[in-house]
Amino acid sequence: MIEFEKYKLLIRNLYITRLLNYITIIAEIMAKDESAGSSPIDSYENSNGYSIVLKNERVEILREQKEVGSVLLEDVLGVHQVTQDDGVKLVVHGFPKTKKIFRSEARSLMKLVVHFDSDNTAEEWKKKIIVQSRKVIQEKYDWYQGKEPSADPRKYLVLINPVGGKGKAVHIFRTQVQPLLNLAGAECQVVVTEYAGHAQSMMKTFDLSSVDALIIASGDGLLFEVVNGIMERPDWENAITTTIGILPVGSGNALCASLLYEAEEEFSVANATFQIICGAVAPMDVLTANTVEGTKYFCLLAAFGIIADIDIESEKYRRIGELRFIFGAISCILRKKAYPGKLSYLPKDAKLQDTISSVADSQVTSSPKEDGELVVTNGVESPTNETSDNCIESHHETPSKTNNDVSEAAANPTVGIEVNSVQTGPPTPFMNKLSEPVPSNWVEIDAEFMNISVATISHLAHDFFNTKQAYVGCGTIYLLYAEANLTSRMDLFKLMDRMGKGNHTEMNFVNMVEAKAFRIEPSEKSGILTLDGEMIPFGPFQAQIHPQLGRVLGRRLKRT
Ligand code: ADP
Ligand code: MG
Repeated sequence: MIEFEKYKLLIRNLYITRLLNYITIIAEIMAKDESAGSSPIDSYENSNGYSIVLKNERVEILREQKEVGSVLLEDVLGVHQVTQDDGVKLVVHGFPKTKKIFRSEARSLMKLVVHFDSDNTAEEWKKKIIVQSRKVIQEKYDWYQGKEPSADPRKYLVLINPVGGKGKAVHIFRTQVQPLLNLAGAECQVVVTEYAGHAQSMMKTFDLSSVDALIIASGDGLLFEVVNGIMERPDWENAITTTIGILPVGSGNALCASLLYEAEEEFSVANATFQIICGAVAPMDVLTANTVEGTKYFCLLAAFGIIADIDIESEKYRRIGELRFIFGAISCILRKKAYPGKLSYLPKDAKLQDTISSVADSQVTSSPKEDGELVVTNGVESPTNETSDNCIESHHETPSKTNNDVSEAAANPTVGIEVNSVQTGPPTPFMNKLSEPVPSNWVEIDAEFMNISVATISHLAHDFFNTKQAYVGCGTIYLLYAEANLTSRMDLFKLMDRMGKGNHTEMNFVNMVEAKAFRIEPSEKSGILTLDGEMIPFGPFQAQIHPQLGRVLGRRLKRT
């Protein structure tokens, strides 16, 4: 009887599985029919009776009016013309998702091959397919829709950090990334960095107009270098709009994890490469940070407390890749240290007018204008009125005074801020000087913290969220903080587990606020502070967001 029940259950499950299979297949056929039904843009029939048909959204190969293969144009990797003994062939390489019932969709390589009767026609078709596929991607995913797509090969400068992640970045690039870039017909200039800071110094002088994008093959730390190098250029305002692509071959890959999550793609090197090849450009926020040793720029994360300690103290386990964070987390939770200090922030919904006057009020030398309305140009907020206040003047007029730190260092040498002769970068009208109290419309919290993690993106690392609300280029700082006396070790283990799923913000000891600027002032003399996973000099620091100042390659739908 029990055996019979078991078989009945098995048979029922089999039926359900088969039914689900049928439903999926029918849905796929219907979807295909819908797009297949669209009228052809062009078609070509060869002497063997095969035809290639280019439609708005897909390319198909037919034999006697019956489809023998097809690929969506948005899934095309590249198109090649091959001339061999057996004639001229056109090869369309695709990287479509293959549907699996009980598994998430994975992408895999496929190709369509069709013979042509002449070189010239094959070449024409190659260009036609590439241009149409770029058009489709531009319309669906590109936030900027700049110039008309062409069939020209894309040019990249690839920066590889040989010590990033498990130290296998060069090997991963050669074996997993380069083959896909070759299929896409991309032209790459590859630079393997020789020392920490190499990419940053290279970015100060590199001819950025010679490439379509900079590809970073490392973790978030190399991005930090690249952005800081770019922001040190006199032409930073244009240079920061250079498109950046990122490959997750470091151990902290927060940007790539966030981009793939938003694109609903599995986290993998192949999918990250595909996202780069697609070429759709999305905005990325950039933040100015004033630290005790001068101005830094970052794009993704800042941390103080347990998350920063885990990140930096787990460096010694770098060889095991992302697993290092688990070891680091266990040791930091068992130690359970408190991090006293002050967290201040300017709430996201603070009125611009209040912010300007409260920043201006606190400047000793300032004489605030009454109607200091801001305009947004290229994501940089600049005051419409000229004032003598170095916090709100436009960088165009007096670039050397736009940085708060210059006069700050002169007024207060103990702060030890590096005074660069050429200070560039966007103005930071929401922040006071680091040595002064925060403006009056900021919120201040004095506490013994367990953690403060700040992010403008969804992920802190692969499989580790800061908040699902954030997305690359969202223009908002998401500040998460927890106080030490409200959290037990068990709470922290639960927190780490729930951060993996992204539902930790519902925990009662986790506070989340949305901000435009923030300041962290640790009470202790030494400790760890990180920006984009990189350690910065310990001491007070503050940052302000410049929404959508930078650009990144990301295959995700546009948001309104
Ligand atoms: P990971 O995610 O593995 O930490 P990152 O991209 O964050 O990888 O890079 C880690 C560090 O390596 C950064 O501080 C970066 O500046 C540094 N770095 C870059 N190139 C080199 C190099 N050739 N040798 C040593 N360090 C380097
Ligand atoms: Mg790193």
